[in-house]
Amino acid sequence: MAAPRRFTVVANWKMNVLKADIDRLAEMMKSGPSDVDLDTVVGCPPCYLSYARQQLPRHIGVAAQNCYKVARGNFSGEISPAMIQDCGCEWVILGHPERRTVFHEPDELISEKVAHAQQAGMKIVACVCETKEDREAGRTQEVLMTQMASLAEGVSDWSRVVVAFEALWASNTGVLATPGQVQEALQQLRQWLRHNVSLQAADNTRIIYAGSVSTNSCQELARLPDLDGFLVGGAALKPDIIDIMRASRMSCSRLWAGHQQLAATSQLITHMKHSRFTQLSLPNPRRAIRYI
Ligand code: PEP
Repeated sequence: MAAPRRFTVVANWKMNVLKADIDRLAEMMKSGPSDVDLDTVVGCPPCYLSYARQQLPRHIGVAAQNCYKVARGNFSGEISPAMIQDCGCEWVILGHPERRTVFHEPDELISEKVAHAQQAGMKIVACVCETKEDREAGRTQEVLMTQMASLAEGVSDWSRVVVAFEALWASNTGVLATPGQVQEALQQLRQWLRHNVSLQAADNTRIIYAGSVSTNSCQELARLPDLDGFLVGGAALKPDIIDIMRASRMSCSRLWAGHQQLAATSQLITHMKHSRFTQLSLPNPRRAIRYI
């Protein structure tokens, strides 16, 4: 029986922190849940990766918000997975919607970055997103699947990838995606994995949602069947992130409790079947005596 997927909360600090903020946020995050079934990762600016790693407890991962596609070379302004790892960090966010839209990173480059980061042994938060124009033109599925296909070309190990879907039109715009809209997109992404990668990748890959996730919206979203966590921007700079981590924790404990119950029931059924089989195949001693 496949175990439930681990919930993952990525608190993306973007370009909004100085050391003093990191001190405050790290202190705050220490008060959040530290369950083994919940992965918490912080997206940190490159110049503070080592500092954040020192300030945060070990159960919280630290991610760079981008990296380049080779280990070293004449690429001023870029950082490599080797450098991120040298700072003590094992995660990287790639294809973030701001990289795609503000810095015009094309699918092909993102895929090459994914490939190199995977070869270097990093864990990846790989983002796909839709814009307001995509949604209004009814192109959501087409756009997401094109981005997924391109990402997948770079992936060699899906167990070390978390897919993040961002409804860009719902990020800091005052418009929120409904749980139905979020579930529809997540389900399409999981189906894509099922048809184009494998059943195992579809069942096990974590798919998280981004787009103004808040204390108010996280509870209902956390119950969506295809949702495995959140990528959080604005709320990651406030105590709200703790509520979001708690909502995810509650949801994942419910899933694990359900999983354990199912596993126990299936064990009991197997045991009963086995003992019935053993009873049937044992000779009935009385009947055996009568026939002698
Ligand atoms: C983000 O873009 O990483 C993000 C999720 O931002 P917000 O939560 O502010 O929409």
